Amino acid sequence: MKHLLDFERNQLSEFLSDSGEKSFRFSQIVKWIFADRADSFDEMLNLSKPLREKLASQYTLWTSKVVKHSKSNDGTEKLLLEWPDGGQVECVLLRDGDRRSICVSSQVGCAMGCVFCASGLDGVDRNLTSGEILEQMLRLQRLLPRDERLSHIVMMGMGEPLANLKNVLTTLEIASDEKGLGISARRITISTVGIPEAIRKLTELKSRYNLAVSLHAPNDELRTKLVPVNKKIGIDKILDAADEYFESSGRRLTFEYVLLAGINDQAEHAKQLAGRLRRRAVLLNVIPYNPVAGLPYKTPSSAATSQFRRILMDAGITIQFRQRKGDEINAACGQLRRTFAKDSAPQTVVISPSS
Ligand code: SAH
Repeated sequence: MKHLLDFERNQLSEFLSDSGEKSFRFSQIVKWIFADRADSFDEMLNLSKPLREKLASQYTLWTSKVVKHSKSNDGTEKLLLEWPDGGQVECVLLRDGDRRSICVSSQVGCAMGCVFCASGLDGVDRNLTSGEILEQMLRLQRLLPRDERLSHIVMMGMGEPLANLKNVLTTLEIASDEKGLGISARRITISTVGIPEAIRKLTELKSRYNLAVSLHAPNDELRTKLVPVNKKIGIDKILDAADEYFESSGRRLTFEYVLLAGINDQAEHAKQLAGRLRRRAVLLNVIPYNPVAGLPYKTPSSAATSQFRRILMDAGITIQFRQRKGDEINAACGQLRRTFAKDSAPQTVVISPSS
């Protein structure tokens, strides 16, 4: 069976012309998928019955199984999806005022090994296909009532998007297309551990997505402890590549900084960070650590957090403290998959029946 959402490889146009169908059938199918939110070929009523049956015999719209669907009181919903090979990924819908943002995964697992993150604890299994990344978006879209649209996408789920750049870009092109999800590039953010060659590739490609770099430390010694791949890269190279991207794309850069109690949340860290970010038009997104079962890291006290914030604000850095959303459903990446793993502690997620 071919994956209908894997447009790059599914040869749908050829299939249609080989079946003697007019080329506008392709657009009709696309409209059913994105605008009409169809869940099966049966619903595509402007296609003939024989065509619907032929499509259903060769193509599948959904390839994943919803293993778990969790909802939190603040409107956050999270899906744990399982692919036919057994690989699992998470994706999240966040509601914030008029915003309907989704956070999707790019890989099964992650190879970056950030010591505080649940996603990489077991390494990486594989890249997701562009169809699998799109499938997460469309599954989340279908959780919304008909009169609501997805407004923002963040590639901040499991995996390192720049380690699966080709498939991520294919999906985002479809997501930003008017005939696709119609979400403009300025409302799409790629979050990366910071891989300079891949950031340069984005610059070369004249990409217009927002870039968020997960910094987490103001110096290489500490960053390498928290983000082991930093050893071969170093903060300077990442900042250089990010600056070039900023110049070519005009998009404001975001740096993410997960605050870990007693580790990277001290006054000296804030001062050093301010020094590095000064003279750059950046947004610093500070994320209070979301504790992961089995890991020793803790969320900082509110005193440490405010001190950190004050030092950076006094230095003129634009800073945003990300609100924690979906805590009770383990909405931080990789957490649900772990709580669901067979040998882990009993899960505490609020569960609603999965579809
Ligand atoms: N690989 C990409 C996307 C990963 S997740 C990247 O590194 O940016 C998106 C963000 O969540 C990253 O900044 C990541 O470091 C952070 N993160 C991971 N685990 C977390 C946790 N338990 N609490 C808070 N933030 C976390």
